[in-house]
Amino acid sequence: MSEFEERHARLEESISAACHAAGRQREDVELMAVSKNHPASAILEAASLGLYVFGENRVQEFTSKSVDLSLASIPGAAMPARQAVRVHLIGHLQSNKATKAAEVFDAVDSVDSLKLAERLNEAAAKLGKKLPVLIEIKLSTEETKAGLAPDSPELSELLEKLPDLANLETEGLMTIAPLDVREDETRACFRHLRQLCDRLAATYPRLNFPVLSMGMSGDYALAIAEGATRIRVGTALFGTRPGYQK
Ligand SMILES: *Cc1c(COP(=O)(O)O)cnc(C)c1O
Repeated sequence: MSEFEERHARLEESISAACHAAGRQREDVELMAVSKNHPASAILEAASLGLYVFGENRVQEFTSKSVDLSLASIPGAAMPARQAVRVHLIGHLQSNKATKAAEVFDAVDSVDSLKLAERLNEAAAKLGKKLPVLIEIKLSTEETKAGLAPDSPELSELLEKLPDLANLETEGLMTIAPLDVREDETRACFRHLRQLCDRLAATYPRLNFPVLSMGMSGDYALAIAEGATRIRVGTALFGTRPGYQK
């Protein structure tokens, strides 16, 4: 077994245990492999073991990996590797990079302004595609965290306009829990996101919120306990991130 296979097997066991403890089915929690800072070969290895959804945090970094993936294939698959996987942008996106992002990614999980949503919608329309998006919510007061505050006028404005952005498919919410806080605070943050999701689904019937993307290597079990439908795991799968540059 490769190191990756071992980590993957351990992670799968732990995710199953967390699902079981929460009375949930393993199939109800999607594992996103966060491949940022790792080379395209890491995505290929993961994909050849059946992982399918990947998370990247920078447009430029993934653009070059995407070229590598278009030239490669996964054993047993007839299509280029790029077409055999789905890659989501999970990092902060400046609206001036929206066009490129809509082109190289299959989904954008970090929408945090109306301006960005409008730019992505325009770009997706030009490409003739429908782009799935998540709204990133900021639940901690740390100044540096991206995302919209739950009770902000900016979030309401975005939610009111989203149904009219015909080339975006709103799928739910995403958050990053504050790091280095007590477990009960992390849990409370995840619970808060789930409650917000239920509330928004009731308030905005023209939008759908099936996805709750929360939980990373250090806290995915808590996120599963609080209802995550997608967890984003990097380090626990790929090991410590190298300083990827290209
Ligand atoms: C890097 C990153 C992750 C994965 O973090 P790990 O702790 O390595 O699992 C998940 N979500 C986002 C938004 C990230 O930037």
